[in-house]
Amino acid sequence: MNAAIEIRELHYCYHDGTAALRGVTLTVQPGECVALIGPNGSGKSTLLLHVNGILPEDGRPRGEVRIFGRPAESPHLPWIRQRVGLLFQDPDDQLFCATVEEDVAFGPRQLDLSEAEVRQRVEQALAAVGLLELRHRATHHLSHGEKRRACLAGVLACGPDILVLDEPTSGLDPRGRREFKALLQKLPGTKLIATHDLELAVELCPRCLLLDQGRVVADGSTLVLLNDESLMLAHGLERPHILQHRHPHPATMVAP
Ligand code: ADP
Repeated sequence: MNAAIEIRELHYCYHDGTAALRGVTLTVQPGECVALIGPNGSGKSTLLLHVNGILPEDGRPRGEVRIFGRPAESPHLPWIRQRVGLLFQDPDDQLFCATVEEDVAFGPRQLDLSEAEVRQRVEQALAAVGLLELRHRATHHLSHGEKRRACLAGVLACGPDILVLDEPTSGLDPRGRREFKALLQKLPGTKLIATHDLELAVELCPRCLLLDQGRVVADGSTLVLLNDESLMLAHGLERPHILQHRHPHPATMVAP
């Protein structure tokens, strides 16, 4: 069986010369839920864009990204963008239609579906994120947490197999965070979640990848990695409080 995500020796340099990815190699199997952690600027967002086949035209990628065995390049990009649903870090970058319902319908409308199928998908996606009652609300009148859920509904309405989420709980208050984590936990499929919310990593993701300076510096059990205080400190992070009373499982580590 093909891996859901397979990345080999991926390098990416922005047009201004910033080397954002410096040889990333990783594999995510179907059904895995994997946290992607690392300090600011370590390359998490750049990596997630590559998984969705969004490569800035003026940059210089090198290496290989495969989704279910298909290379993330032309002519496979439309297929890949249907398989991979990307939730942007800032909901305002993702919402652009006037109302919640129109926004959620935008993706399915690109998929050559009947109007009845589009309506059914929108209904199901809004129900899944608990936004049915706000379906006619203007997107710019939503709270931050509601915007996030509307974005997630738009992603889900396209029926992706892989969810790629960039900081899904940033900017949410504690209740919003709790509710959004519970929502993500219920969703089936493969998930790759870039996050500074280490509680989310512990609660949702059995496996964790630690990125620093554009490289994967550790890959293994989330409990083991996050419990390793010297590893965390060496890469600008800290051992989360939630782990004070939890014991690690064996992990596979890769050398920096
Ligand atoms: P993270 O998501 O881990 O914070 P990013 O992928 O956003 O990391 O950034 C990785 C590196 O690429 C950083 O040094 C950042 O400044 C740089 N970078 C990100 N976007 C751009 C851009 N559009 N142009 C130039 N450099 C960028």
